[in-house]
Amino acid sequence: MSDGFIPAAKPLIGEDERAAVDRVLASGMVAQGPEVAAFESEFAEHFTPGREVVAVNSGTSGLHVGLLAAGVGPGDEVIVPSFTFAATGNSVALTGAVPVFVDIEPEQFSLDPVAVEAAITPRTKGIMPVHLYGHPAHMRELSAIADKHGVLLFEDAAQAHGAALDGTPVGAFGAFGMFSLYPTKNMTSGEGGMISFGDPELVRRARLLRNQGMQTQYQNELVGFNYRMTDIHAAIGRVQLGKVDAWTRQRQGNAAFLDAHLAGVVTPPVAEGAVHVYHQYTVRVPEDRDGFVQALKEEYQVGSGVYYPVPNHRLPSLAAYAKDLELPETERAAAEVVSLPVHPSLDEQDLERIVSAVNALAKAGA
Ligand SMILES: *Cc1c(COP(=O)(O)O)cnc(C)c1O
Repeated sequence: MSDGFIPAAKPLIGEDERAAVDRVLASGMVAQGPEVAAFESEFAEHFTPGREVVAVNSGTSGLHVGLLAAGVGPGDEVIVPSFTFAATGNSVALTGAVPVFVDIEPEQFSLDPVAVEAAITPRTKGIMPVHLYGHPAHMRELSAIADKHGVLLFEDAAQAHGAALDGTPVGAFGAFGMFSLYPTKNMTSGEGGMISFGDPELVRRARLLRNQGMQTQYQNELVGFNYRMTDIHAAIGRVQLGKVDAWTRQRQGNAAFLDAHLAGVVTPPVAEGAVHVYHQYTVRVPEDRDGFVQALKEEYQVGSGVYYPVPNHRLPSLAAYAKDLELPETERAAAEVVSLPVHPSLDEQDLERIVSAVNALAKAGA
């Protein structure tokens, strides 16, 4: 990369992916079929061995189907973070249940277990942490809280393919775990979502919901959607599955370089026992974050991202669920975070340019 602008993300789609798409197109069978079935079992084996995976057409569909399969609906509450992509809160609201927004802890930006326990009511059906930026959420504490109160645990693992805690991969803790395959995620299928389940009955319901509620044609058992993945997308995903581990190691190596060389910003700590897959490398810039982002781009040609400047509970679409709610750590994170490039296309010169730009700006601001 090196010369010119360093983008915040860069999907890697190569000749192998194109050949795989060609193979499917040439077969004349492009809708959900054998590629999807193969992708499901390969993905399960790769990321959550022993579990069954259901492929759908997006990560958002995956959360929606996962929640419905687990029985979430009107009258229920699901505890979620507000500091996340809108799909987290949206998917709960789409089931007719109420998303209950809870604050995060300041280290890894994920659901604060103490605040979660305080938010449990007789209507709580589940807790859905997000493994934000590729770092596992506080699953030890959240699992214990879910068990103690008899509520379900769900995982938004959209950003965390391959992350783990105490040797357990994310996506294998909850009733379901959803991985997104949007182009900027750690691997892609174009668009897509993969839902990992522990219970075969939930798998059965998810497969029905994905396909108009039918297993046998014209014998519809449930009111369902068309959330099917195509064989074209699955073929891309299968190729990417063979590359994602090497990309993750590159992300981790890039993050280690940034950890070692950045000064004047708060670098992202990794919790004990956690494997971080660095979907994002997110630092805090406590003073004038927006000016910092603009200067990075204009003076240094370094792209960055702010995920997320407006927390879910303050979005016009979801604010009705959050009257008079105050989430101070969520607000502080929304004002301070910047994600620096960490993707596998960076070379050593790019990393050095990122470091010198950030350090120069941090020093000037101090
Ligand atoms: C990307 C993302 C989703 C939604 O995935 P799509 O594939 O874009 O529908 C959900 N939750 C989080 C945290 C995400 O980052």
